[in-house]
Amino acid sequence: MRKIASHYALIDGELVRNRVIELDDNGVITNIIESSNIDAMASVEFYPGILIPGMINAHCHIELSYLHNHIEEGSGFAGFARAIGAVRNNFTTEERLRASRVADAKMWDEGVEAVADIANDDLVMAVKQNSKIEYHTMFEHFGLNNLSTAPLRELATRYDRCSVTPHSTYSVQDAPFRELCSNEGALSIHLLESDDEALLYQHRGSLHDWYERMGWQCDFLHYATPAERIVASTPTERAMLLVHATRATAEDVATIERHTRNATWVLCPESNRYISRQEPPVALLRDMGAKIAIGTDSLASARSLSMIENLRQIGKICDAPLAEMLTWATINGAKALGIEDVKGSFACGKAPGVVIIEGADLQAMRLTPETTTRRLI
Ligand SMILES: [Zn+2]
Repeated sequence: MRKIASHYALIDGELVRNRVIELDDNGVITNIIESSNIDAMASVEFYPGILIPGMINAHCHIELSYLHNHIEEGSGFAGFARAIGAVRNNFTTEERLRASRVADAKMWDEGVEAVADIANDDLVMAVKQNSKIEYHTMFEHFGLNNLSTAPLRELATRYDRCSVTPHSTYSVQDAPFRELCSNEGALSIHLLESDDEALLYQHRGSLHDWYERMGWQCDFLHYATPAERIVASTPTERAMLLVHATRATAEDVATIERHTRNATWVLCPESNRYISRQEPPVALLRDMGAKIAIGTDSLASARSLSMIENLRQIGKICDAPLAEMLTWATINGAKALGIEDVKGSFACGKAPGVVIIEGADLQAMRLTPETTTRRLI
């Protein structure tokens, strides 16, 4: 058994003092003790900082870890896609596996407990199966000329915690999109990461022009907007992860939120900064009462897979209290993955992992450039 305490702990969405978290040998919380006398309690391990449960990375592509430092920053959305295509065949399978293993181990040490991970194939599935992190893999259906979801659905049956999801509202034709959105299983859709995605539905913009030049037809442009398309293609109250949404308008958010209260908007500020110097719509989503979670995206479009770095960047563009932001990185991600009974918060009977945030400003209750996270359990 271990008893762990810190200056503050994230309990029920608040940062509170004077709590000792007691865990059994399996990491299951057996008691949360309130005491003003922590220093004098026998056998309590005290760590300066803030205790939080293991974090949930709500958007990652661990299989792209080999692209770390190989894609130039700030090349824009189209430039990013081109750059990936240019270098992705320059690496061996072993190099890809090794990069994923290294990234996975670092995420675990920094306190990530579960990951919503996007995959194009099962190349690095062994890394995920052998990881201490709980991966939920979403194979992404991609390509205007790709009409059959069967190959990925077959792949998903071979492993635990797998589903098939449409990549985005601009890269998947109507029938496969509707089929995947009405299936069971976790759904994660890249949404409105560039203006061109919304412009496509108005039959203009550079994405539209590129499709024209390539002779590719879209059979889904009768929907007014990407958000309208999602609403028309998913059952009411469908749970879904909507990723990026940097160009989402208030009307887009309202359209989705009227349709389902089970959408989670996954913000990846480091990736947005890296690719296109954009910012996630955190103020808009908070104003509208939407649920927010945090993702790192991949090492192709991020300097690191650090959850605390993403929170630090979010903290610069919104005035949400730190406690609220920490719930985005923990319980909100757990709820989005349907694992909140076990992960995402400190409560008796859960085994959420224990992480210490070190180097935060505990007076102003803010993250600083020196703030880091470290797994204790
Ligand atoms: Zn992504």
